[in-house]
Amino acid sequence: MSDASLRLLVTLGLLAAFVGLEYLVPARPNALGLRRIANQAGLAFISSVLARLALGGGLAGLAWMAQDQGFGLFNLVSAPIWLAIIVSFLLLDFAIWAQHMLLHRVPFLWRLHRVHHGDTVMDVSTALRFHPFEILASLAYKAAIVVLLGAPAVAVLMFEMALGAGALFTHANIALPKGLERTMRYLFITPSLHLIHHSPNPVETNSNFGFSFNFWDRAFGTYRAARLNGDDNHIGLKNWRGPRDQTLGAMLVNPFR
Ligand SMILES: [Zn+2]
Repeated sequence: MSDASLRLLVTLGLLAAFVGLEYLVPARPNALGLRRIANQAGLAFISSVLARLALGGGLAGLAWMAQDQGFGLFNLVSAPIWLAIIVSFLLLDFAIWAQHMLLHRVPFLWRLHRVHHGDTVMDVSTALRFHPFEILASLAYKAAIVVLLGAPAVAVLMFEMALGAGALFTHANIALPKGLERTMRYLFITPSLHLIHHSPNPVETNSNFGFSFNFWDRAFGTYRAARLNGDDNHIGLKNWRGPRDQTLGAMLVNPFR
């Protein structure tokens, strides 16, 4: 099985599991309907077709190529493989944290990323809602890091799996048992921490940029443990709140409006 099929299978399995949990133990009223799923999945479908066209072998394939050609830091120095895997995984995780922070701070990048934040509710389908140009920009950025670092393919695959699973988990509308949530918060971004990031209040939106671990936010002072006004149902942006802003077409043209 190719790593692209493996990732697709794991993503679909997790997606189904979280949809089930959202019906069983929702944290907020469940808004998952067919139209909503179709719009969000439409974006994800366009993104994955474009990503496949841009980089057929995926990031792990690129890592193999760099290894073959002896290109990139870890393909030039003789570091133990376990060290190369751990350092690559952590550096890629940090890079994606930094990318997310920049998506919020650089105006033209925010135009792309605001499509994701325009969702007025948050559930597992929000994890599919990224503008295809954001996905392509992110792919180019990650590809550059993978090649320069000479990251081992297994580290790249682990990172991509963790990123995908983290995105689905942190957006899921699930009420975790309080004890589990408290323990997870020592190290991870939980759904309730990511919900703060989806608040319309810019102070809250510009916090908790992590997708899996929360130590980068803690280290750079962007970690926020609670909302300022405590209203968990206030989600999205000040603008783009109408039903017509939530269609596939509107989301595709949103960055250019
Ligand atoms: Zn964001």
